[in-house]
Amino acid sequence: MKRILITGGAGFLGSHLCKRLLDDGHEVISLDNYFTGSKRNIVHLMDNPYFEVVRHDVTMPFFIEVDEIYNLACPASPIHYQYNPIKTVKTSVMGAVNMLGLAKRIKAKILQASTSEVYGDPLVHPQKEDYWGHVNPIGKRSCYDEGKRVAETLFISYHEQNDVRIKIARIFNTYGPNMHPHDGRVVSNFIVQALKGEDITIYGDGKQTRSFQYVDDLIEGFIRLMDTREDFIGPVNLGNPGEFTILELAEKVIELTGSKSKLVFKPLPEDDPLQRQPDITLAKKELNWEPKIPLEKGLVKTINYFDQLLSES
Ligand code: NAD
Ligand code: UDP
Repeated sequence: MKRILITGGAGFLGSHLCKRLLDDGHEVISLDNYFTGSKRNIVHLMDNPYFEVVRHDVTMPFFIEVDEIYNLACPASPIHYQYNPIKTVKTSVMGAVNMLGLAKRIKAKILQASTSEVYGDPLVHPQKEDYWGHVNPIGKRSCYDEGKRVAETLFISYHEQNDVRIKIARIFNTYGPNMHPHDGRVVSNFIVQALKGEDITIYGDGKQTRSFQYVDDLIEGFIRLMDTREDFIGPVNLGNPGEFTILELAEKVIELTGSKSKLVFKPLPEDDPLQRQPDITLAKKELNWEPKIPLEKGLVKTINYFDQLLSES
């Protein structure tokens, strides 16, 4: 049994990771400031005596004795990370400094939830880990993109300078139950709009692409990455290579919900990447991992979750 700290443990991904690690027989501590996360996501875990919940902000130092740290704390949806850009940078950068300092002191292994956003609006397609990216340093997305890029730099520097045991995962668009209904990301927006019979909001012409990964596949990738051999540190892409236009996603959601919602077109947000698809050759080789859940199957599970959630409210 390991003792494991998960920052951002009450968020979408964090809550799934808490559950999985508890199910695997570990002791888990969730640290969260509840900016975008919710106790609702973890309340069902609270009667487990091996689960602890801490309200804390990663921009402040935190002391604890653990074997492993998964650093997930950071708002991930564009509307939320752009709400307070300075705080987003602080969360990524000071959060990384605080968690890496902790890992160094207690000799814990630490995994960073990085992102495909480090590739920006990519000029190389699909994206491999050796691509340096095409990122605007002063645009609306830069607080998130550059914050996450500095966090990767800090991880590598603590590893090289202080021998901290690190792992860096570059996560591509992931969806599933426990996303907040007002999260603002495309899968949850479309499903909630379809279930409520509201207009489906397509930003731009809807021809931009994303590759959508169901959450269970990502969590399996996280665990495998944390358990890789000591000298494998990443960064490694974790995503589903299935690439869809946003229009195709909207049509699939309408079909699966049987909704009568209409498509409406809104302006494309600044610096919205035109295309995104992971090359997962490295993850296949080093983690013996690839996603197993196709879009349609994952969407059905997610639609069922939101259907239940909306019927409760
Ligand atoms: P989320 O917004 O649901 O979860 C983030 C969690 O971090 C929330 O519980 C939030 O309250 C918490 N948090 C935010 N700022 C904090 C702070 N200063 N101190 C403590 N807690 C704080 O988002 P998510 O989708 O679960 O993303 C989790 C991580 O994975 C993030 O780091 C995100 O950048 C990364 N990621 C996610 C995706 C995705 O598609 N879901 C893709 C790429 C990267
Ligand atoms: N998007 C959209 N309608 C929405 C929300 C998002 O068309 O209601 C688009 C958005 O412009 C982007 C894609 O869907 O091109 C994915 O957006 P999301 O915010 O989910 O993630 P990210 O842009 O960070 O990949």
